[in-house]
Amino acid sequence: MSQSPGQSLDKQTTIARPFAIEGIGIHSGLLSKMTVCPAGPSSGISFSKDGQLIRAVAGNITRTERGTTLGKIAVVEHFLAAAYGLGIDNLIIEVEGEELPILDGSALPFIVALEKAGVVRQSLDKQPIVLSRRLLVESGSSSIEAFPFNGFKVDFMIIFNSLGEQAYSFSLGNQSFKEEIAPARTFGFVEEFEQLTARGLGRGASSENALILSEKGAVNTPRFVDEPVRHKILDLIGDLALLGRPIKGWFKANKAGHALNAQLVQKILTA
Ligand SMILES: [Zn+2]
Repeated sequence: MSQSPGQSLDKQTTIARPFAIEGIGIHSGLLSKMTVCPAGPSSGISFSKDGQLIRAVAGNITRTERGTTLGKIAVVEHFLAAAYGLGIDNLIIEVEGEELPILDGSALPFIVALEKAGVVRQSLDKQPIVLSRRLLVESGSSSIEAFPFNGFKVDFMIIFNSLGEQAYSFSLGNQSFKEEIAPARTFGFVEEFEQLTARGLGRGASSENALILSEKGAVNTPRFVDEPVRHKILDLIGDLALLGRPIKGWFKANKAGHALNAQLVQKILTA
């Protein structure tokens, strides 16, 4: 990891006003509430639960199965992707419950709420991470490569046995995250639902908050023909937010999930 002072003169941002959102969690099915508050320059994004402050950084990841858990707060990635997509650097989120509300299964309700709260510039410059060389993480047939790049770009490819291959190329720019990635919902296969609920996962999942797939295709109406791969990009961006700073880079991901995303973040931080 290296940093080139002066490469980005953008100012850090937070929100103008606090706001609260509540809803059920996709895994527990229980109601949870989050209150999102402004935070000072260079304080980063932190969650507060039961009086404990948990910084949204990779070192605090405790679980990566079907979502990313920080400390005792599960499914943080959709909210973090929304904050990253809007370029918001500093926030404190008070959480009551075991996981963040799933809402409609995408990052769009978070984007709408953050925009409504008002994104405001702060006194200090952003300090982006600039990759100095290619990095690779892999596990079985899954991999993510990160390349030096003067921008932020993700190419993602997934293969479902039943539904074939999906690929999408995303470049972060004005409005592009909100339009191309944020509306893509989390997804799951009907066939694996029983196994998941037996492991305490997906108990709140429904056609209200997920794209439900079966071996024959989508059960409810997709928002995009390639909604699953777009959601995988959303998840990767939410996990990259755990670098704790913005990053410049080009990421090529192949069948990656939260565990590999977390490995990549660790590798970038120690490179
Ligand atoms: Zn997700």
